[in-house]
Amino acid sequence: MITILSGGTGTPKLIQGIIRIIEPRELSVVVNTIENTYISGVYVAADIDTVMYTLAGMVNEDTWYGIADDTFITHETLKKMGFNEILKIGDRDRAIKIQKTMLMEKYPLSKVVDIQRIKLGIESRIIPMSDEQTFIRIITEEGEMEFHEFLVEKKAEPHVKDVLYSNVEPAEGVIESIETSDMVLIGPSNPVTSIGPIVSARGVLNALKKAYVVAVSPIIGGKPVSGPVGEFMKALGYDASCIGVAEIYNQFLDKFIIDVKDRGSQKKIEKLISDVMITNTNMKTIRDKVMLAKKCFG
Ligand code: GDP
Repeated sequence: MITILSGGTGTPKLIQGIIRIIEPRELSVVVNTIENTYISGVYVAADIDTVMYTLAGMVNEDTWYGIADDTFITHETLKKMGFNEILKIGDRDRAIKIQKTMLMEKYPLSKVVDIQRIKLGIESRIIPMSDEQTFIRIITEEGEMEFHEFLVEKKAEPHVKDVLYSNVEPAEGVIESIETSDMVLIGPSNPVTSIGPIVSARGVLNALKKAYVVAVSPIIGGKPVSGPVGEFMKALGYDASCIGVAEIYNQFLDKFIIDVKDRGSQKKIEKLISDVMITNTNMKTIRDKVMLAKKCFG
């Protein structure tokens, strides 16, 4: 049994490799929910949907958001009617989000996600990090903003001064899943806005300290592969490098996998984490993903 902690871009790529080497039912994925919010009248759980679509083999791999080959008739119609959506939500993706919104009138998010993943034929468990309503605020030089406002509307350009988010109660199954796993795997995800919120949910840090935890660096050759991870890390006082990531995870990490391009950082990281593995972590092809998944176990 293994548990993966996931955001919505880097770790889903690794999940594609993991499910080719272990039985999907042996896998639980605890997913970040800190950015969840209502957009255009529907509940948007972006990271959960990306993980769900990845496990169902239907994710849009160009954007790591939404469903492959989706249509955008509703989005375009709204535009013609003078309403510009902050997120470009596809039609099939929107249907899943509408169902989520309706089910959430009756059930907590974790139950809703379970209903949807079973309907999509997914055998792995998908556990939202929390059933609570969360908040995240990005404090920038242009003022405070919502996560999607910063990322999509402002294209992550304003200089970040701080990142604030709620410390939540974990959903049922989060702690149990960590405690009963042979390995907890933290894929290459944003340590500040994807993994940070999961680790800060009540009881998670303690559970991680007792578990065998392996993480893959989301930074390659001193640069993020995608997204504003460097900005967020610098805002919290960390170096935007795999050394900075090691400092963030240091309290609970047993093994850290860094890229061949960061070989020069190995000695410094070994002062924090004894087991450092160096390999190619850039997942462009399914072969890369399977290779990296195997290294996580090796
Ligand atoms: P978000 O929810 O979209 O922020 O997605 P995540 O938190 O899951 O992941 C974003 C992080 O994954 C970024 O810091 C990227 O640098 C990293 N990432 C994306 N693809 C790869 C990859 O192929 N290899 C590695 N090592 N990191 C990656």
